[in-house]
Amino acid sequence: MSKWQEDKAEANRLALARLTKSLPSVFPPGVLSRALNGRFVPPTPRLAIDGYWRAHPLRAERLARALAARSGAPGGWSWQIDDDRSSGRPATFRSPPAPYREHAYAKGPGFCCVCGQPVFRFGWHVDLWDRGRNNNANWHGACVIAWQFWNAPSAQAKLLRRLQGRRCRQSNGRLWRTAEVDHRVPLFQVWRQHRDAPWPELLGYWGLPNLQVINRDVHVEKCATEARDRSAARVAEIA
Ligand SMILES: [Zn+2]
Repeated sequence: MSKWQEDKAEANRLALARLTKSLPSVFPPGVLSRALNGRFVPPTPRLAIDGYWRAHPLRAERLARALAARSGAPGGWSWQIDDDRSSGRPATFRSPPAPYREHAYAKGPGFCCVCGQPVFRFGWHVDLWDRGRNNNANWHGACVIAWQFWNAPSAQAKLLRRLQGRRCRQSNGRLWRTAEVDHRVPLFQVWRQHRDAPWPELLGYWGLPNLQVINRDVHVEKCATEARDRSAARVAEIA
């Protein structure tokens, strides 16, 4: 065993001791099994949960949309963008609409600002411990990862390529190393044509249903066509 391996084994032993000490008798089994069998044992239940969602961004993304569907949009809300940061509204149409992040509709402590559902112990979305809402939290562990995914899907390019069997979604050719993550329905078009779609269906445009990996040359061509359509639409609007 190398020195590094010895250190790692020792760190894992210590982490496991800490985790076992603080682990409640009820804990999501999938999370626990990943924590115990991963390369690095997380030293706390909270880190075990965070690590679980980080390893499963698509699962987190799907769950966030399902939780948001449970909440629905607050009455009177509509998707608006706004330069004024104090409103909590997104500054551009590139950010996913999130009514419960807006100050006017925030539900307060213990509710997730992404999906609007209650947050429980360890940032979990189900009250497995019968302890009620965790009023120190306003994000689910899953929703943190979903939010990152929606805002920067390129960070998951590797995973998305694998899902597509390494084929370009537009040309069906082999994906090159330089391939890029693309929104099938571009976000400016979502803003223009689907602005009034109900929330959280809207979130699907930032999630897996609207994402594809395509080769760079195909992407450049797609963007040029989109830009042409955009200026044509603008001319039509003015006329
Ligand atoms: Zn949430």
